[in-house]
Amino acid sequence: MAHMPTLRRDRVVSGFIYHDAQTDDARLTLALARTAADLGAAVANWTALVGLEKGPDGAVTGATIQPGRGPDEPDGPPITVRASVVVNAGGVWSDAVAALDLGHDPATIRPAKGIHITVPWDKVRNDIAAVVPVPKDRRSVFVVPQGDRTYIGTTDTDYDGPVDEPTCTAEDVRYLLDAMNASLTEPLSEADVVGTWAGLRPLVSGASTAEKTTKTKDLSRRHKVARSASGVISVTGGKLTTYRKMAADTVDAAVEVLGRGGRSRTRRLRLHGAEGHAELLEAGAAARLGVEADELARLAGRYGGDARAVAAMIAGDPALGMPLVDTLPFTRAEALYAARYEMVGSLDDLLSRRIPARWQARDATADAAEDAAGLVAGDLGWDEARISAEVEALRSSIERERTDAELPRTATTATTGA
Ligand SMILES: Cc1cc2nc3c(=O)[nH]c(=O)nc-3n(C[C@H](O)[C@H](O)[C@H](O)COP(=O)(O)OP(=O)(O)OC[C@H]3O[C@@H](n4cnc5c(N)ncnc54)[C@H](O)[C@@H]3O)c2cc1C
Repeated sequence: MAHMPTLRRDRVVSGFIYHDAQTDDARLTLALARTAADLGAAVANWTALVGLEKGPDGAVTGATIQPGRGPDEPDGPPITVRASVVVNAGGVWSDAVAALDLGHDPATIRPAKGIHITVPWDKVRNDIAAVVPVPKDRRSVFVVPQGDRTYIGTTDTDYDGPVDEPTCTAEDVRYLLDAMNASLTEPLSEADVVGTWAGLRPLVSGASTAEKTTKTKDLSRRHKVARSASGVISVTGGKLTTYRKMAADTVDAAVEVLGRGGRSRTRRLRLHGAEGHAELLEAGAAARLGVEADELARLAGRYGGDARAVAAMIAGDPALGMPLVDTLPFTRAEALYAARYEMVGSLDDLLSRRIPARWQARDATADAAEDAAGLVAGDLGWDEARISAEVEALRSSIERERTDAELPRTATTATTGA
């Protein structure tokens, strides 16, 4: 009970502790992209594959890509890239990519929506991740502490809307709040929800009627690697946890098409950021770098060895150690670091996928949007018009997210969570 004092004693039959891994999925993905770049890959974001090139025998010989923010906002002409192997790792979009190869939608993916909510940590006060059962649904939700926030999720429902923008509804939020409240002494309400996000699991669905109608929560999370008649390799399904196995199987299939190269070396590959990480946790490291020990530990957790670069920015200009968004620990230096080294393409990239401000403090992030855009504008070459457009796009997206879930605005000052 000491690990989660808000648990209802009458609901606890017994307890056990098990160990699992925890990661920030966006930062893990970024570390992977940087690892690939370190090893010589050319990495491009905001660039869509829009066509496949094929030779006279029908074998794939390359791909056409379109830089820009979508079909309506191209950034220059399309580019054709010659390639001996093309891999489709399009997640929930992989059927759309496969359709460019096959000429029809293979309908292999069954998207399953899942949402998370964020509440102030002091509403739950769990010092380890907890698993709470959902009454009458044979499911559990995870309750994961994250600094002075707690993440709660997830749901698992069939989804047939637009895959680009799944939304979190009032019903989704209620499901999680009801699940929590069945086990908590102090009920949570919509007013406590300071952030929400929705995602789609790219589950592999078989062609049989049984597989098409099974509840998504009962569908397998296994991955599948397949090769089409033209030689395009697709990796579908899977989980973040199994990404190295998914990658290894895909690389092995690609090597087979190429007819040269060894097997995947992921087993022994250290990710970008691993180098120099351990030294940052040694006594005296913080004093040497001129930052507080707690702050260096937080930065090392997010950036690995690259935390040195963020710490040096703060040591050089202490104003960069100030919060980027009120109520959250992320510093202004981290925004500049993201703009310089992490391929930020939009303000939402910065405040959602480089720094998880939006997921942890939705309304405070909307309030900080203008200041954050101004801070990174110089590095990203944004003029006044672009700054306004970015701020407007982020604020309206946040407002839509809040109203779709029928949530009230939350306090956006340092008293949030009191
Ligand atoms: C709510 C929720 C909870 C989850 N919880 C867990 C968990 O606890 N543990 C776990 O292991 N897994 C979890 N997962 C699953 C995990 O997040 C997914 O399996 C994983 O993100 C899928 O990775 P992916 O690389 O296959 O696809 P994605 O991450 O979707 O990546 C596909 C990429 O392809 C890009 N793309 C699509 N079309 C094109 C195109 N035409 N041109 C160029 N790029 C394109 C997309 O922009 C995207 O970046 C969860 C998923 C959800 C939704």
